[in-house]
Amino acid sequence: MSRRRTIRNERHVPGGPLLFQRMYTRLNCEGRPPQFEVEFYPYANLTHSIRLRREIAHVRLSDLLREAPLEVIEAAAAILLARLYRRRLPREMLHRYRQYSHGEATRRRLHALRRKRARPKIVRARGQHFDLEPMFDELNGRYFQEGLARPKIGWSAKRWRSQLGTYDPALNQIAINCALDRPDVPQYVIDYVLYHEMLHQKHPMKLARCRLESHSRAFREEEKKFSEYRRAMKFLTRFA
Ligand SMILES: [Zn+2]
Repeated sequence: MSRRRTIRNERHVPGGPLLFQRMYTRLNCEGRPPQFEVEFYPYANLTHSIRLRREIAHVRLSDLLREAPLEVIEAAAAILLARLYRRRLPREMLHRYRQYSHGEATRRRLHALRRKRARPKIVRARGQHFDLEPMFDELNGRYFQEGLARPKIGWSAKRWRSQLGTYDPALNQIAINCALDRPDVPQYVIDYVLYHEMLHQKHPMKLARCRLESHSRAFREEEKKFSEYRRAMKFLTRFA
């Protein structure tokens, strides 16, 4: 068997196209369903994607789902289809998926996966204008009674378009967008972005990446305790 075929077989999702057709019908999507091509994909996260190209829907499911129960794969399919075809997602589907994705076992496997696959994206803590480690220590004393263990901290290697910072529990790492390391950015703004990521460290969440998670009410309340919260928000609105 050729290497290529081996790889393709590893990615094969048994019954994948039929499963997607079933969900297509269940969501009352209109018209003839596309042809579904479904594979497991080694994402570094619990991520799935669907792309429609000329009657063919290319689906990639995180290979973490390989061992998931059938209902969870169905729920993931329904979530993707509902998004693509703008259909209402049955609540029990979302619930089923979340029970899986928020579960302790899934989270553990996800962390192991990220440690293996995610490339560290940070360079150093000392930037051109701001040094993040002493800033962390100072905030830790001011707002957390020194209660947080200092994770790896650094400026992102590249400028990010849509994120100011991230906290990745699997890598135990805070990264701050290097686009902020500029002399015309006030220190309270960097402090605020860092403080926000430190709150993620304190309030563990599902994926704990700013773009994917919801910020809980407790999180938002505590965020407002930052002394220059309004000023920082105002600056960042203009900055973006
Ligand atoms: Zn966040």
